[in-house]
Amino acid sequence: MGSKKKSKPGRSKKKPKTSADQALALDYVRAWAHPTPPEPSAADADADDFLPVQVARVGGGDVLFELHSHSNHSDGFLSPSALVERAHRNGVKVLALTDHDTMAGIPEAVSAASKVGIRIIPGVEISALYNPREVAGAGEPVHILAYYGTCGPSESDELYSMLLNIRDGRYLRAKNMLAKLNKLKVLIKWEHVTKIAGEGVAPGRLHVARAMVEAGYVENVRQAFNKYLGDDGPAYARGSEPFAEAVVQLISRTGGISALAHPWSLKNPDAIIRSLKGAGLNAMEVYRSDGKVDGFSELADKYGLLKVGGSDFHGRGGKDESDIGTVKLAITTLCGFLKMARPIWSAAMKNILLKFAEEPSSANLGNILKFGGLTNAEDFSSTNTGTDVVDFCLSSWLSNDDMEDVERDEVRLKLAHYAAEQRHQLHSHLE
Ligand SMILES: [Zn+2]
Ligand SMILES: [Zn+2]
Repeated sequence: MGSKKKSKPGRSKKKPKTSADQALALDYVRAWAHPTPPEPSAADADADDFLPVQVARVGGGDVLFELHSHSNHSDGFLSPSALVERAHRNGVKVLALTDHDTMAGIPEAVSAASKVGIRIIPGVEISALYNPREVAGAGEPVHILAYYGTCGPSESDELYSMLLNIRDGRYLRAKNMLAKLNKLKVLIKWEHVTKIAGEGVAPGRLHVARAMVEAGYVENVRQAFNKYLGDDGPAYARGSEPFAEAVVQLISRTGGISALAHPWSLKNPDAIIRSLKGAGLNAMEVYRSDGKVDGFSELADKYGLLKVGGSDFHGRGGKDESDIGTVKLAITTLCGFLKMARPIWSAAMKNILLKFAEEPSSANLGNILKFGGLTNAEDFSSTNTGTDVVDFCLSSWLSNDDMEDVERDEVRLKLAHYAAEQRHQLHSHLE
């Protein structure tokens, strides 16, 4: 796996053997990551003479994706804006924010990212349980990453209510862990944990672990997990997680790509991957910055899953944490990911837009604007015909390619009809 990570096509400025396939993949990924293609640089101009002009133009470029990261909306230390800043400094061009069981940080990330030219993939890491016989009290915790298109999930109510249930379960779970710690003579106050988690953030094990460090019971977070809070630890408690298969199915129903997170932390990876594949799992993490774990690439091949990976950056600092952007996925991997994701995302966008056209409520508009973000909402008032409004919305939400994919005309027709009648009302929704 280490060797795989070291072959980073297109990364070297010295133009080694960039095969035509890799160059085409780079072209595809770059076109998606930067909707406006960057000017060819002088260094690219004298690129490989044997490649067509179009391919040579993008030669030598680097599109860095980070597909796994956390902000302080779950157990990360940085705000979404600070996370985006750090990703930008590390050269990340496309960032998936994948907080635990919440998408609350996405709007801030999208707005921060638009200032530094990063593209955000709205994501979430969902806590689930694998339980082969669905026996209460048994089973293994599984984390499943979901990646959505620009407008976020379709059928978002269904997803959000599942996430809310999980977050509610976390409060109870954290309390149970404190009770167990208490019996072990580790006295942690509830207020201490919620203060560390922050206002409105569902407490997790990491928050409890930090409270234990601050209270002097353990030297560091790792020790808290090893001695008390790990999956088999004496103070571990379960939340109210849904079954992993149901999570995978919900992700595909809501227009997302599902990926099994850090399979190396599972006791029973083969059985879990087989079962999740049956439920429609798209991908699994295989790459990480130390590239140390053997066998998972083979498992992905065995079950026909796309191979992805990311740093799982939390911003907690310390030597054992990989920085954001340190997992450099091969360009062919990114191309495969986008080729799988884009039709799914486009179908979801079309659903979202049509739902809005059919029921142009402010709630539906809010759903669209939440992640799709009208970058210049003020421009809206200067538009003066219904068609302008529709074009303005569509061009703000979607790249040109996306618009082709979502069968723009069908959406446009419905939206134009609505917009012509409701334009003034729409203005007031935006204010
Ligand atoms: Zn995880
Ligand atoms: Zn994570």
